[in-house]
Amino acid sequence: MLTPTKRNPWHRGAGRVLLTSLALPGLLLTALALFTLADRSLLLHPAAAPLPGVTVHLPLSAPAAESPAPDAPAVPPEEPECEEAAAPAEAVPTDRGVHLQLLDGEQTLDVTLEDYLWGVVSAEMPASFEDEALRAQAVAARTYTVYKLLHPTKAHEAQLCSDPGCCQAWLSREDRMAKWGSDREELAQRITDAIRDTDGMVMCYGGEPIQAVFHAASGTATRSAEEVWGSEVPYLHSVSSPEGEEVPNYYSTVSVPAAEFAAALPDCHLEGDCSGWIGDTEYDESGLSRRICIGGTWVDTTKLRSLFSLRSSNLSLTGDGDTLTFSVTGYGHGVGMSQYGANAMAQQGSRWQEIMEWYYSGAKPENLADKPLGLG
Ligand SMILES: [Zn+2]
Repeated sequence: MLTPTKRNPWHRGAGRVLLTSLALPGLLLTALALFTLADRSLLLHPAAAPLPGVTVHLPLSAPAAESPAPDAPAVPPEEPECEEAAAPAEAVPTDRGVHLQLLDGEQTLDVTLEDYLWGVVSAEMPASFEDEALRAQAVAARTYTVYKLLHPTKAHEAQLCSDPGCCQAWLSREDRMAKWGSDREELAQRITDAIRDTDGMVMCYGGEPIQAVFHAASGTATRSAEEVWGSEVPYLHSVSSPEGEEVPNYYSTVSVPAAEFAAALPDCHLEGDCSGWIGDTEYDESGLSRRICIGGTWVDTTKLRSLFSLRSSNLSLTGDGDTLTFSVTGYGHGVGMSQYGANAMAQQGSRWQEIMEWYYSGAKPENLADKPLGLG
């Protein structure tokens, strides 16, 4: 059974922030952030330095309506003459105050973080997933994006691109809506709600936004960053993950002709009947395959995944006659949040904070509006 080790005190809808700013010409600028959290009240940093290359507009809005005082008189006082009551303005989402440059094909677009996230979440996760899974995806995508803004890529001049092999998948609203069916309006609203419900929230480790990498489905457990990419990342450790056969193509097989297999692995001694080529398999502490002895040489399963375009590196390998066959479980690099795992956790009652804290060990949710933005 999957039980996060720590219960998160945040509640559904936590993180919504009402930003109030009162300007007195030449005298005073006060920015006060009022949180819906019962146990938190935090000040916004109005003079925070903007991120390099990021335009940050702090939202300005009227104060939220207050509850009546408990000792309010039963008979209301006379109303003042001819003064229109100002309607309380809606709080402006923090995501809408951040702009970024997005490379999409040949064109570079200037989009708000809110609009960008809509295109990412709707492209990265089925909109039919549980609410809390969609919220977790929104936070993962926002966190990944902010990390990219703070640590610019050298792959292109724009801060992000729409290529999932480089940054994150992204679809324009028009393209996304065209791919959905008759329930497109409902699905679009679910994506919008997931982003608004987690407005400004990012996962931080030691106060810094993390590399919130994610993947489709792990095979019983996620991988550590060190296992896959060779360098240890304190919040990207292997954890168990509850998804299974509900994942499309959770189990897959790939067959490779022996000659093609041998050509791809020139360092391995591969001759004769391939049924004798495959030796022992070494597993990591989570029971996922780490490397396989092939023709007397150890080969990492991450390398095999790359060489033969396998869905994941959690695999077994057999040889028979002149064909080698990979049996693969899961889909993706296996590091960080599993999207199907997040959905399974949500179905079991976990909230997005618990899902994120499970897959990103030691990281905590924080609000961009609550932080000086000159991070990195
Ligand atoms: Zn990119």
